[in-house]
Amino acid sequence: MGVLKHYRELFPITDATPIVNLEEGMTPLIPLPRINKRLGINLYGKFEGCNPSGSFKDRGMVLAVAKALEEGKRAVICASTGNTSASAAAYAASQGIPCFVLLPAGKVALGKLAQALMYGAKVIAVKGNFDRALELAREGAEKTGCAMVNSVNPYRLIGQRSGAWEICDVLGKAPDWHAIPVGNAGNISAYWAGYNEYQKLGKIDSLPRMMGFQAAGAAPLVTNQPCPNPETIATAIRIGNPVSAHLARAAVSESHGEFNSVTDDEILEAQRLLASEGGVFAEPASCAPLAGLMKLKREGRLPEGITVTMILTGNGLKDPNTAMSQVGKPIEINDTLEELMRVLESK
Ligand SMILES: *Cc1c(COP(=O)(O)O)cnc(C)c1O
Repeated sequence: MGVLKHYRELFPITDATPIVNLEEGMTPLIPLPRINKRLGINLYGKFEGCNPSGSFKDRGMVLAVAKALEEGKRAVICASTGNTSASAAAYAASQGIPCFVLLPAGKVALGKLAQALMYGAKVIAVKGNFDRALELAREGAEKTGCAMVNSVNPYRLIGQRSGAWEICDVLGKAPDWHAIPVGNAGNISAYWAGYNEYQKLGKIDSLPRMMGFQAAGAAPLVTNQPCPNPETIATAIRIGNPVSAHLARAAVSESHGEFNSVTDDEILEAQRLLASEGGVFAEPASCAPLAGLMKLKREGRLPEGITVTMILTGNGLKDPNTAMSQVGKPIEINDTLEELMRVLESK
């Protein structure tokens, strides 16, 4: 039914708010028994790749677009590392309003670019990094009156709280740890707000530790200073100056959690492990939490038997190039049974 209908009473929705809906949310919380064995914990992956545009961004975008329409806005604009633009473009298309997206030129995964173009957005490649594209989008929004639908838009983070509510609704409690990749730091802040709201409503009686994982080449929350030239293959978290840094810091300190960083090699290893032992194909940024849990396990800092939810923020199909660069090519054969048998019987 979509998150606006499902969690209507928890959202700032009035009779004047259009119920925009692409059937986002209600994503599966997937048990990962083979990976549990390695880590000695009770791990679930919440697969946000099942959302309509293939990432968690849809949870907040649906509310941001609904409120923009309610306020009489007739176009949306955003800067994006890829998934925000795919999501904004999808919801704008469904409502018949124009969408402008600013992307860092050459730094967006192929699938995300294809999505924004297919949904009919006006795609603008900025020769600069994400942080600069975001500044420009803000200025453009101010000058034109377009609705700015980056996570500086408060409705984005409110909509994203629904992820925490779904986890608690399914588990019947909060997890012990909540592991999540951190880029612009909105999602970790939204989850923390969501868990807190559920505790106030009496739906859960404990709160998770918030464990935020960044890529080593773009880890301003770990180093505690902005990173002027962020670099990582995990393009969705290639952000040097997170807009919601203050909220994310509060979430981590209030929950006695931590920020940690993982290298690109560790992220790619985790991505292969999640696919080959979990059966879930998530994009590189989404695999930073698993890489981080593996790192904590190696360091002896992962408590046995705890329940951990990790947010698999985006679908692996969005970034086929990164995936193909790490795996072998298909085995090519002539169309004979003989050649097929040679492959089937080889070890
Ligand atoms: C946007 C995004 C992130 C980062 O989320 P923030 O709210 O910016 O911290 C992580 N993974 C994926 C796949 C994303 O699209």
